[in-house]
Amino acid sequence: MKITILTIFPEVCRCVFAESIMGRAVSKGLADLQAADLRKWTSDRHRTVDDTPYGGGPGMVMKIEPIDLALSELRTPQSKVVLMSPQGRKFSDSIAREFSQCPELILLSGHYEGIDQRVADHLVDDEVSIGDYVLTSGVLPALVVADAVVRLIPGVLGDSESAAQDSFAAGILDHPHYTRPAEYKGWKVPEVLLGGHHAEIEKWRRAAALEATRKRRPDLLKGG
Ligand code: SAM
Repeated sequence: MKITILTIFPEVCRCVFAESIMGRAVSKGLADLQAADLRKWTSDRHRTVDDTPYGGGPGMVMKIEPIDLALSELRTPQSKVVLMSPQGRKFSDSIAREFSQCPELILLSGHYEGIDQRVADHLVDDEVSIGDYVLTSGVLPALVVADAVVRLIPGVLGDSESAAQDSFAAGILDHPHYTRPAEYKGWKVPEVLLGGHHAEIEKWRRAAALEATRKRRPDLLKGG
């Protein structure tokens, strides 16, 4: 699968793409992760991507032309273009799974006061928010989406890191995890995890996952 982040901060993306599990996905050939510099599609000396808002008011607005030119070059018949926006549908595990089925994702990152509305109205397929707060730029949201999607590509996570047992995968939160030492400052690891009885451990983990969900995210259980 290919993911391209279209942004004025391509170097931020390249650093993240080179590290850890994303870097491994790239080197194993499982993901093609690209950062496209929006300024490449400008023609003036200052490589301008923004302008003052019609109607007045604070801040600058990202212009439609460079984005249109960039998308005309980057998109293919397989691409899904997703605008990062606090006004989009709320990103979730199920949207990450939906996106992981797309052969090509283009994540468009805004900046300043936002992007000329005609981009959302005419040039993108979807709009996604990572939560009810506003960041200065869409580059971090785009990286959040890319990370959540890449780890779902088959083969990216090793068995021991499997996404199947993570929170939300089965509609509930993950169970607690522990590692050595068995006791620290008097805080003990649950006895059942030390015994090596797999059926008992599985039973405990399922109950602990349900208990965590009931306590922290009862809405997930109500959702059925
Ligand atoms: N004026 C816009 C509003 O209130 O809806 C916010 C613009 S924000 C300062 C600049 C850019 O950051 C946006 O165009 C978007 O790409 C990105 N952004 C900020 N918060 C976001 C969020 N919660 N989810 C996704 N993208 C976000």
